[in-house]
Amino acid sequence: MALTDDAHRLIKQHLTTHEQPRALAVDATCGQGADTEFLLDLGFNTVLAFDVQAKAIELTRQRVQSLGAPNSERAKLIHDGHQNLENYLSQHNNQRMAQCIMFNLGYLPTANKNQTTKADTTIIALNAAIQNLSANGIISVMCYPGHPAGAIEKQTVTKWLTELNEDWQTELHEGAAPKPTAPVLYLIYRC
Ligand code: SAH
Repeated sequence: MALTDDAHRLIKQHLTTHEQPRALAVDATCGQGADTEFLLDLGFNTVLAFDVQAKAIELTRQRVQSLGAPNSERAKLIHDGHQNLENYLSQHNNQRMAQCIMFNLGYLPTANKNQTTKADTTIIALNAAIQNLSANGIISVMCYPGHPAGAIEKQTVTKWLTELNEDWQTELHEGAAPKPTAPVLYLIYRC
């Protein structure tokens, strides 16, 4: 089973166990829209989906539209970087805190590989994410250290995780054959 499937399974389980309301979720890197669709399937009232690439926004738009209304209307596609998350969350003031925020880092395999997420903006977005996560909320971060920018990014994210205070619990999930270049999944819980 892919780690992205593990992320879906573990998020669903966590939200169910903690009886979290499904008001607001964020897909910080929508790419082809798989996580946006997953969050809509979970029943979130609003799903904010970010990507810096027009191609990714278009792919996600198509995917969401194929789900039909009213599902498609719950997704707000945002053609901007996740480092600007705060600006958009404040527009949803009545439900400012998100119950789930997902990051699937790296590049879109079918697009320009230079359009990858980058450590510095990822950290800005992660800091915004922890500021805006509800109690018992969950953040997932898929890291792909198999390419140079991804290796730096994983190292930076790992260090950032160790600096979180005791309000936060983190978990590392690895695939069946862990090695330094293999993807990893981090889950971050607000205690
Ligand atoms: N690595 C995954 C797919 C990740 S897609 C896999 O192999 O399946 C990551 C997405 O993040 C891309 O679509 C890319 O355009 C987007 N992205 C890059 N920088 C971003 C940023 N600052 N804010 C939001 N999205 C960003």
